[in-house]
Amino acid sequence: MENYLGCYIALEGPDFYYGIIKKAIEINANCFMFYAGSPQTYKKPPISLLKIKEGLELIKKNNINKNKIVIHASYLINIANCINKNVYESSKIALKNEIKMAKEFQINTIVLHPGCAVGGNKKKSIELLISTLNEILDNDENNIKIALETMAGKGSELGSTFEELKEIINGINKKNNIGVCLDTCHIFDAGYDLNDVNKIIQQFDKIIGLKKLFVIHINDSKNNCGSHKDRHENIGLGKIGFNNIYKIIHHKKLASIPKILETPETKEINYKKEIAMLKTTISQSS
Ligand code: FE
Ligand code: FE
Ligand code: ZN
Repeated sequence: MENYLGCYIALEGPDFYYGIIKKAIEINANCFMFYAGSPQTYKKPPISLLKIKEGLELIKKNNINKNKIVIHASYLINIANCINKNVYESSKIALKNEIKMAKEFQINTIVLHPGCAVGGNKKKSIELLISTLNEILDNDENNIKIALETMAGKGSELGSTFEELKEIINGINKKNNIGVCLDTCHIFDAGYDLNDVNKIIQQFDKIIGLKKLFVIHINDSKNNCGSHKDRHENIGLGKIGFNNIYKIIHHKKLASIPKILETPETKEINYKKEIAMLKTTISQSS
């Protein structure tokens, strides 16, 4: 079975979508993720500029599996905000727009941060998140899949435990269209100790189910397990360590899931190098 490993790639001019596919091929990423605009805003570039047709042709020519490409929704979106009606309403519009963009790119999975209670009641926040996701998914004809990201548990972030994500999933009507994006840095910072990878994967399987695992974000962490910080580190330079991340990459049950690096690129290390490093099949001492 093909193992899917890739990284975040920026959607930027002049080549936009075409440029992303070109970059993916160049760095040997057989899966990847991008933001359909700037992650810190709701704004999206005009579709006519994005070289989507050229990108789709390149995807076809190179036999890239479109099901392994994902879009990450804007960070600003908080459909769990039950305090500020304006933020909530604009978040809802923005998420619908992300789905529209995904359709243009012919992408079927969107990674979404579950949101924050921002001082509000957590239970109410979760209820609002569920009802909003239902409203959006029930009315979506494109069969879009939402992957709720596991969060580090900063402030009032929702989704920092497998149980809470399961509770949200349980409330969704269109069961096939809801799943999880597991971020290694985030779960580690949330308190899941990846020094025992098998145990954590079993725990995920037992609580949420591995078939609900749509995407994995591969990051080392600058901070200790349980720190609730969310600072990504390059693979092998952080507190999770190379061997534990290597085990996730090469875990048999996770092969078909797109595994996406979101590590910092520096002068010394880039995604091409990290992908190559993680792909090596040298036997690992555990
Ligand atoms: Fe994220
Ligand atoms: Fe992430
Ligand atoms: Zn993060």
